[in-house]
Amino acid sequence: MRFGTLSGRLVVVDGDRALDVEKHSGGRFSADANTTLARFTEFAAWAATADFAEAVPFAADELGAPSPRPRQVFAVALNYRPHAAEAGFQAPDEPLLFTKFPSCITGPVTEVTLPPGKPDWEIEVVAVIGTGGHRIARADAWDAVAGLTVGQDLSERAVQSRGKPAQFSLGKSFPGFGPTGPVAVSTDEFGDRDDLGFECFLGDERVQHGRTSEMIFPIDELVVKISAVCPLLPGDLIFTGTPAGVGNRREPPRCLQPGEVLVSRVDGIGEIRQHFR
Ligand code: ZN
Repeated sequence: MRFGTLSGRLVVVDGDRALDVEKHSGGRFSADANTTLARFTEFAAWAATADFAEAVPFAADELGAPSPRPRQVFAVALNYRPHAAEAGFQAPDEPLLFTKFPSCITGPVTEVTLPPGKPDWEIEVVAVIGTGGHRIARADAWDAVAGLTVGQDLSERAVQSRGKPAQFSLGKSFPGFGPTGPVAVSTDEFGDRDDLGFECFLGDERVQHGRTSEMIFPIDELVVKISAVCPLLPGDLIFTGTPAGVGNRREPPRCLQPGEVLVSRVDGIGEIRQHFR
């Protein structure tokens, strides 16, 4: 199943056509993503039998975030060894968590106003929480995830590294710094949900690529570690970390510039596109 939002309403998607969940379920499931994701198993079973005859065409830039109102957004630093190395750190032995404050979350095709400083890119696979839960066991962890989507953990490095000790969350939460989409794809759609290829282009240059099988802490382990403390709520997001190739670790360092376009793709999900101004 592929799901997302159009005009803030939950839809299931087949190609470039979408079916309004509340309308076509006769009100059984809400248009509000958080409300429906709380009943993810039932929702997925309904979606598997949904009749797309009345689905309506849409354009990619009309989509909102697959989960537009997450109550918690978790993000993981240094979850790929080459990125930890380029950042000058040893691979961590516990996930390093921060938040992107939820006001930065947007849909897949956006214009982002660059703040002053050193704005930078980080392609990430993002887990959208379905039913969620507290103290989730490893064997149940994937069942807590409704789907995977494409994200960018846009980061302004000057604010991110300001202060001693530095704190990540503010520099990663400017307006528009959390684009997600185009849709979330339920994990049964992937041949191997632990091994998705992804890549990110700045203009014509491929600046990052990797596979989720290279994560230090895979998604199910992140669910266990996070939910050991915080109950995971329907619609919550986990930004699962970025591989090597970010701008501020290049020689010379490179920042996002007005006029540039960043395209981020994950196999089996699709792409998101950010224009900077
Ligand atoms: Zn990141």
